Amino acid sequence: MPSSGAHSSPVSETIHSLIVCNQCDLLLKVTLLEPGGKAACGRCGNVLYRSQPDGLRRSLVFALTSAVLFLIANAFPIVTIGSSGLTNSTTLIEAVYRLILDGLPSIAILVFVTTFLMPLLEIMALIFLLLPVRLGRTPPGLSLAFRLIHLVKPWAMIEVFMMGLLVTITKLNAFASVSPDIALGSFVLLMISLTLAVVNFDAHYFWNQIATIKESEVGQ
Ligand SMILES: [Zn+2]
Repeated sequence: MPSSGAHSSPVSETIHSLIVCNQCDLLLKVTLLEPGGKAACGRCGNVLYRSQPDGLRRSLVFALTSAVLFLIANAFPIVTIGSSGLTNSTTLIEAVYRLILDGLPSIAILVFVTTFLMPLLEIMALIFLLLPVRLGRTPPGLSLAFRLIHLVKPWAMIEVFMMGLLVTITKLNAFASVSPDIALGSFVLLMISLTLAVVNFDAHYFWNQIATIKESEVGQ
């Protein structure tokens, strides 16, 4: 076996075949799994990694679907409110703008960040990471994009916005006719699609793919 390069030294190979449980810090040896199998920590039962060879492809498909749904959800009105013969449709960004005009800038920022900015960053980071890997390339700014996903995740809260919106629609219906528009359905589908993109993103398999790509790049 050739012994050139850091990847093939015995010490580095030993380190590469170890994994630390992120729940209880136990150091464990990485084992090869059958497709669909999962490795759990022997001490606390935490799932360490799964073998879903198709996971990254599924994650990319759901991320691209999320991007399309995100565009539709923000380009079209969410609800149409009718009262005394007048009707009014509003998109998410228009609603944010109206909140600022109504003197509620903090709520406007909260809605903008949790429902627009963070989901957008999450979708873009996923595509940015997964598309090059799919094409057999190392994504530029790899570690930054990977950190961004973890940073953004707790702040992307479309579901909270949806809950608030549904409560508002139900309450408003007593005073005015409120009918859901195309963007509302898109937001619901976006919520599901983005969750599936994140769930299918197998970080362990992703880094394995990156290592394989880097090795083939070095070999060229
Ligand atoms: Zn553990």
